[in-house]
Amino acid sequence: MQDSFKTTCCYCGVGCGIVVHRDRLGKLTVEGDKDHPVNRGMLCSKGMNLHYTVMDTSDRLLHPEMRYNRNLPRQRVSWDQALGRTAAVFSQIIRRYGPESVAFYASGQCLTEEYYVVNKLIKGFIGSNNIDTNSRLCMSSAVAAYKMALGEDAVPGSYDDIEHTDCIFVAGANPAWCHPILWRRVEAARAANPRLKIIVSDPRVTQSCAMADVHLQLNPGTDIVLHHALGRILIEKGKTDPAFIHQHTEGFEAYREAVMQRSIEEAALICGIDAADIYAAAGHIAGAKGFMTMWTMGLNQSAVGVRKNLSLINLHLITGHIGKPGSGPFSLTGQPNAMGGREVGGLANLLPAHRVLDNPEHRREVAAFWGGGELSPKPGLTATQMFEAMHSGQLKAIWIMCSNPLVSLPDARFMEAALQKAMFVVVQEISNKPETLRYADVVLPAAAWAEKEGTMTNAERRISYLTKITDAPGEALPDSEIICRFAQKMGYHGFDYPHVSAIYEEHCRLTAGTNIDITGLNYNVLREQRSVQWPYPAGATGHGTPRLFTDHQFYTAHQKAVIHSFGDENTSAPPDRDYPLILTTGRIRDQWHTMSKTGKVSKLKQHIDAAFLEIHPDDARTRNIRQNDMVEVTSGNGMVRVKALLSTTIKKGVVFLPMHWGKILNNDLHRANNLTNNLVDPVSKQPDLKFTAVAVARY
Ligand code: SF4
Repeated sequence: MQDSFKTTCCYCGVGCGIVVHRDRLGKLTVEGDKDHPVNRGMLCSKGMNLHYTVMDTSDRLLHPEMRYNRNLPRQRVSWDQALGRTAAVFSQIIRRYGPESVAFYASGQCLTEEYYVVNKLIKGFIGSNNIDTNSRLCMSSAVAAYKMALGEDAVPGSYDDIEHTDCIFVAGANPAWCHPILWRRVEAARAANPRLKIIVSDPRVTQSCAMADVHLQLNPGTDIVLHHALGRILIEKGKTDPAFIHQHTEGFEAYREAVMQRSIEEAALICGIDAADIYAAAGHIAGAKGFMTMWTMGLNQSAVGVRKNLSLINLHLITGHIGKPGSGPFSLTGQPNAMGGREVGGLANLLPAHRVLDNPEHRREVAAFWGGGELSPKPGLTATQMFEAMHSGQLKAIWIMCSNPLVSLPDARFMEAALQKAMFVVVQEISNKPETLRYADVVLPAAAWAEKEGTMTNAERRISYLTKITDAPGEALPDSEIICRFAQKMGYHGFDYPHVSAIYEEHCRLTAGTNIDITGLNYNVLREQRSVQWPYPAGATGHGTPRLFTDHQFYTAHQKAVIHSFGDENTSAPPDRDYPLILTTGRIRDQWHTMSKTGKVSKLKQHIDAAFLEIHPDDARTRNIRQNDMVEVTSGNGMVRVKALLSTTIKKGVVFLPMHWGKILNNDLHRANNLTNNLVDPVSKQPDLKFTAVAVARY
């Protein structure tokens, strides 16, 4: 006898459907949902082992805790005491230093309802816009580029386009490891259509290159040079779409001038690749009836991340490959609900339903809807700015929920020093492992995946409902309930929701009349349809909107997409004599972010169980480094000591460290972000995590 529940994987932005079975003893097992349109029954290694993260509660936080002095251990307290004291301290700090002296740092793993209430709390009632999330580290460059080019933060297509395309350009991503089920669909599409061409640009030969017709193993930071070169060839060969450019875009002439600044041979030299390979890639794009691009952090996590994104989107706008089957730019979301967070406005510069802070009408609409008073026009602090403001003493209190910033933020030792200086730190978490707990004055135990219900939006605008399957251990509560209880302790009205579904319905109402209108949704519709793609306005039926811009009317002022033009320079701090190599960081196949969940599943350690430095044998030889030697990696910001993995799969002059490992027994020498610097893209404020000048020596 067993119960079965349909829900959604909580790891990456692919958003696979999962069936969870619970036997009469409460034991859980999982399998892929064969009826789910995303994964059609498939799951990757992380999804297949998701139930272990719920059943093993040995690391779970079970009770609220607090302390009055950081030199003392925290004591178990009641929810009432923990939230009462937190409300008292927040009120006092806000009274004394103003609303901008407090901040919330949340996560792309929060459910949409959780994002919604915390955003409403700080913007609508506390009166500051100091909310940002780890999505700032993930997608913010893509978001800014979509808005600049298409007039809206909107992924135009669907995963189904994979089955209709005949050319996919994967730029700065390794979906075979990081979005595995999506990649299984690419492999299946290739098997069904051997003419499907795959182009990959990456300084490393990754698993995603195995199927590539062309691998452009470019130097880090040279993506814009490559994209411009592809644009130049398409223009010179007459492979653009002049009618589309004329009717549906603006900015082409300036773009043409910009891409003509470099010859293809010069571009190839800068990128460190063969000109013939650039021509081959351009030929595949030129010959395609459907052309898709997929990208993630290789473009986004950059000092010029927005420009890298725009230069790629431009290839669609000059060829007209957007808004039709098998075509379109497709940013792959790293986290399960980064998109849902943006839908509710959960970033320092946003308001609900993709409204923006600097629009007075938007502020008035939202303030009237929430009824908490005027909204501040001043942008809040972004992820890295929050920690800088704590370091300087400007930000007094921070509330960190569902995120592990002392592993994931750049320049981690600086961030740690900043947290140490904060006057008051609240950590809302499921696990007792994150480094942030060391600095917490108040710890609030949160419910995990399968222990609460809510919604998430995946990378193709698909909103899925997540079912509650089991009770949270101890006194842990859903994050939305914790925030609502706190808001009520602060004396704010509008947070006494009878059920989490009421939060969702309020969010849906606030989208009325916007480009992301989902007023036709509620939990009943989502349970019935399993998942839908936005927009889904009142009266909509079925599974929503699989493709945007089919009429080529964009969300810009003139309904035309904008082809932006700019130079191709990279503004990262370049390598020099002291730090001659370029470090790039990233994920491995079986671990997820900072390993709070995947790190406790022994099966997932069988693939790779320790941090390592991937280095080219030629770079190793000149440093007298052999396979498995311990090496010391240093940058202007810090140091890491790990074993060397010699491999010809990485470009000479480049080294790679996985980003997952934090402190192990107080030792932070595996933490990749000891090395990275806090340079950010000037528009998106996304950190430059893929380009750090380092030195490597045998230890
Ligand atoms: Fe989960 Fe992503 Fe794996 Fe799908 S591909 S099972 S969403 S981790």
